[in-house]
Amino acid sequence: MPGNQQRNQTGRPERPNEPDSYDVVLVGGRVVDPERGLDETLNVGITGGRIAAISGEPLEGATVIDAAGLVVAPGFIDLHAHGQQLPAAWMQAFDGVTTALELESGLLPISDFYDAVAAEGRPINYGASAAWTYARIAEKEGMEPEGNLGWFQEAFSHDGWQNSLASDKEVERIVARVEQGLEEGGLGIGINAGYAPGYGRKEYHALAKLAAKHGVPTFTHIRYLSVQEPESGFEGLGELISLAASTGAQMHICHLNSVAGRDIDACAKLVTDAQERGVPITVEAYPYGACSSTVGAEIFRDKWLERWGVEDPSAMELNGKPLTQAEIDDLQENEPGTVVVMHFLCPDDPAKPMDAEMLDRSVLHPGAAIASDAMPWVRQDGTLIEGDVWPLPEDAFAHPRSAGCFSRFLAGWVREREALPLIEAIRKMSLIPAQILEEAVPQMRQKGRIQVGADADIVVFDLATVQDNATFTKPAQRSTGFQHVLVNGTPVIQYGQEILEARPGRPIRR
Ligand SMILES: [Zn+2]
Repeated sequence: MPGNQQRNQTGRPERPNEPDSYDVVLVGGRVVDPERGLDETLNVGITGGRIAAISGEPLEGATVIDAAGLVVAPGFIDLHAHGQQLPAAWMQAFDGVTTALELESGLLPISDFYDAVAAEGRPINYGASAAWTYARIAEKEGMEPEGNLGWFQEAFSHDGWQNSLASDKEVERIVARVEQGLEEGGLGIGINAGYAPGYGRKEYHALAKLAAKHGVPTFTHIRYLSVQEPESGFEGLGELISLAASTGAQMHICHLNSVAGRDIDACAKLVTDAQERGVPITVEAYPYGACSSTVGAEIFRDKWLERWGVEDPSAMELNGKPLTQAEIDDLQENEPGTVVVMHFLCPDDPAKPMDAEMLDRSVLHPGAAIASDAMPWVRQDGTLIEGDVWPLPEDAFAHPRSAGCFSRFLAGWVREREALPLIEAIRKMSLIPAQILEEAVPQMRQKGRIQVGADADIVVFDLATVQDNATFTKPAQRSTGFQHVLVNGTPVIQYGQEILEARPGRPIRR
């Protein structure tokens, strides 16, 4: 591409070892590396799971893939993937994700999580943070944590860990459990504060100090979701910013789009001002105007319409069908665990152009990563789909971001609206998430880049056709357009088809 400052450096072959033949060669693709500003037609040679050559000259390979007309980019790194099941990983692979990390909520014990996933194997890389909520549940409810999601879901039938203060002694023990998780290799501290808003300020402060002590980031779903004060999203962001400033901990803000909601102008400004003053905070967002949670959650109770700035109860849907307030009341009374979707912005409604602009403020926020908040896949009766199940049943349910987040951003923001250049979109989906983690997790320095020596986590896709297909009524539909997806040099999707037995995913672990 014209204007590329790296032309001289990349125009000649980069072949440090000059082998006769590579394991895999990608021929003639549009190679994009955001770190170097590279966007050129080149060949890529892969050997031993790493990128071994990037060259304008022909390369020989045992497997040769014609990438002409296709984009060759670093695989997407999802910092916010709750769905850690095998079928969830396949759904994300079809969406271009080569590393899916459970950081916002996290898990404990960390070793159990890594052992269980390693035993099953994954097509893509995986990892998790140490979960503050798990430690809090253990202390407040006397339940011994199990490193899986089912255990966490069960804990929602108990209330004490969500809404009551911890004593100084309890805080000490909670922090000790989290620290154990860090010592076992957790990628940071998951602070799902919105689900346990009863904590005290000193407990949160103790977590930030722990993160600073270990040099790891925190990943926070802030305490409040509301556009109205008090107990607003703005207040929750202020709480996080003050802790990052006072402790020096690197604190990551999860899904800015949903925590700010319709109050995005004030919230984005608060975040930007803090960043400009050097406060170590980072941000992510997902490109949808709807959130997903259980109908009984606090955020959908008292005055929820005013608190979200939403006009009508029909913003809430059950399996794609809008609800009335009477139906919502009934569900909250009788089936509070029912998962609903709530549209706090309608970016696709041409009658509401402001909504699309508000969503843009989050997803296009300077330096913000795109992260999916992918939910675990469940059956119609709400039970988790676990084990080696693939393909997913047609009526499996999750928010469509679990299948289509990254393709939706490419199709909608890059191809259709040209809201940002391709290389900037790829930066938000690969390099930025790698950079958010790499100081604490050196493994990430080898990811998010198409460079000699980097891990060969690579996506090859057609920008003209890439498309999310998952909808709110039919979420279990994989994205299309990703022709090839390589993880540590091994293809898991080839010519648009999954290679079912492929399990090249490796743990990302400190
Ligand atoms: Zn969240």
